[in-house]
Amino acid sequence: MDALIDAHNRRINYLRISVTDRCNLRCQYCMPKEGVSQFGHSEILTYEEILRIAQLAVKKGINKVRITGGEPLVRKDAVQLINQLSRLQGIEDLSMTTNGILLAEFAPALIQAGLKRVNISMDSLLPEKYRQITRGGELARVWAGIEAARAVGISPIKINVVAIAGFNDLEILNFARLTMHDPFQIRFIEFMPIGSFSEWRPEQCLPSEEIKRRIETHHPLVPVNSSTNGHEGPARLFKFPEAVGEIGFISPISDHFCNTCNRLRLTADGKLKTCLFSDEEVDMKFLLRSGCHDEELAKKLSEAISTKPLRHGFTGSGIKRCHRPMVKIGG
Ligand code: SAM
Ligand code: SF4
Repeated sequence: MDALIDAHNRRINYLRISVTDRCNLRCQYCMPKEGVSQFGHSEILTYEEILRIAQLAVKKGINKVRITGGEPLVRKDAVQLINQLSRLQGIEDLSMTTNGILLAEFAPALIQAGLKRVNISMDSLLPEKYRQITRGGELARVWAGIEAARAVGISPIKINVVAIAGFNDLEILNFARLTMHDPFQIRFIEFMPIGSFSEWRPEQCLPSEEIKRRIETHHPLVPVNSSTNGHEGPARLFKFPEAVGEIGFISPISDHFCNTCNRLRLTADGKLKTCLFSDEEVDMKFLLRSGCHDEELAKKLSEAISTKPLRHGFTGSGIKRCHRPMVKIGG
């Protein structure tokens, strides 16, 4: 089968699979305070359906797979899915993004199942602030999850911090300093306007350059070549000269990485999305459930890739956002 190359000559080799739109937290930037109407059980793809798509995608050149959600660890038997995915010939990198709340419980089983890496979201180091942004989350459980992941040898442990002006900007330095003695990769992500519920305002988005400048006021940073640590991605990496860990900046707003975007997303309800910011979706579930052959599914996959836009819809004069909230896409 031919590789997945889009109309702009980008090779698509990274599939993010959302296994659920359910979550045990309600982060303010990810879902509205009243929550979201959840997909019914029959609306979400079964693990067999997910595996069928993943298998085809891998045959066509996908070699990186990330499991996400909602919160992936709230779906029953998520470990089993990891186990089956890890057996697919051709996946070189199998990872998960999690809020960490259930990680202490699942870390040993996840590593045994073949998970290679984990990204843990944690937007404040202060328990009360963390509770506020997540609408009820307990920070101590995330730390327990991080420790459990370290204890079983999951490496590297990447910690995602959505940087929001007026919320956690005073904690930037404290997050950065976590890398001094521990091998974390702290990744500051620019706050994105996703979902029609979002009251995102441009002034809430802290550009990566500003975050970096604030850190450098206190400690110098030196660049890290991301291709030498084996985990290329959109993060621009730096470190304190004497530190064990690294600091990453992910800048979808101030310095979009669309030119090198290699991603494809599969939502929990079986839609392929080729751009986080677009409402365009290709319905794989309908095809899967209509008894189609693999060839038809593979053709649909290639068609979806061919519609991948050159870049997202941010312009100087306005913002085009997709209507789905992040919790129903899979970040
Ligand atoms: N529940 C898991 C978690 O929180 O890690 C996985 C799903 S969550 C949607 C994936 C990532 O998207 C998280 O790191 C979260 O911080 C990020 N995210 C969600 N909404 C965002 C937004 N509006 N801007 C930037 N990042 C966002
Ligand atoms: Fe849940 Fe993750 Fe969204 Fe927070 S960011 S509400 S943890 S899906």
